[in-house]
Amino acid sequence: MNADSIHHGSCLCGRYPFIGEGVPRFVAHCHCKSCRRALGAGVATYVGYAAGQVRFAGSEGLANIPAYQSSPGVDRGFCDVCGTALYYASDQWPGETHLFRSNFAVPEAFEPTGHVFYSDRETDFDLYDDLPRYALGSDAAVAWGKRPAYRILFACTGNSARSILAEAITNLRSAKIGDKRVRGHSAGSLPVGKVHPEAEALIGSRVHLLGVIRSKSWEEFTGFQAPDIDLVITLCDDAANAACPVFPGENTIRHWGLPDPASGAVSFPEIYQQLEALIEGLLQELGAR
Ligand SMILES: [Zn+2]
Ligand SMILES: [Zn+2]
Repeated sequence: MNADSIHHGSCLCGRYPFIGEGVPRFVAHCHCKSCRRALGAGVATYVGYAAGQVRFAGSEGLANIPAYQSSPGVDRGFCDVCGTALYYASDQWPGETHLFRSNFAVPEAFEPTGHVFYSDRETDFDLYDDLPRYALGSDAAVAWGKRPAYRILFACTGNSARSILAEAITNLRSAKIGDKRVRGHSAGSLPVGKVHPEAEALIGSRVHLLGVIRSKSWEEFTGFQAPDIDLVITLCDDAANAACPVFPGENTIRHWGLPDPASGAVSFPEIYQQLEALIEGLLQELGAR
């Protein structure tokens, strides 16, 4: 693909023809639930351009195209006649307009380089390519050198309450250490497999912005494709006393002993506050800004 190549496309009915100019920043398959539902499809394949590389004929930028705000700061443009999804724009990707590969006259002109939000996929949707699979969108950005991360893994037994909240709080901070974005993860030694509803309620509508928050085993962080973890924080006595698996990377391990809100020993808002204070202190100590 050349820097001066122009690719044409349009929605199903032709009301909104568009062009994408030059080399896009990325091409990737997204498996997140919001994209799948917005398209009514098993996967959304994106061609991510800088906003200035995209032009919709007969409309002043994106402003005249109807859009649905699927979460705060996320616009999903669509054709008001045929309903085709036209673009995705988000505060998370400032200055970019993401188009859908299938809306181009020649979709094969764009070669995908990975799967993002793979953890969110329809599990019986079989894929046979050998492209890299990233649990989250931000993991791909990190892997592609766009945004390096300082990764903190919060581990407890069930991974349904405390560690989930800690992951969410850390990512809501969107702090940086040097040029590395601080990224929270969570896992459990015996995962319940479900986020506690009260924890989910506290995180609320921000879940999509945070990527995929789910209850999972810490084995996901020990495998061949696991991300490097810089710091492991265990959040309950059970986890601290259990034999810890070896994590890849140069991580260190700390323990924060905290009561379990799921057992009723403490309320969810209380533990949320405690975690906020601990994480704030930790980020300061790490020199985050
Ligand atoms: Zn249309
Ligand atoms: Zn998506």
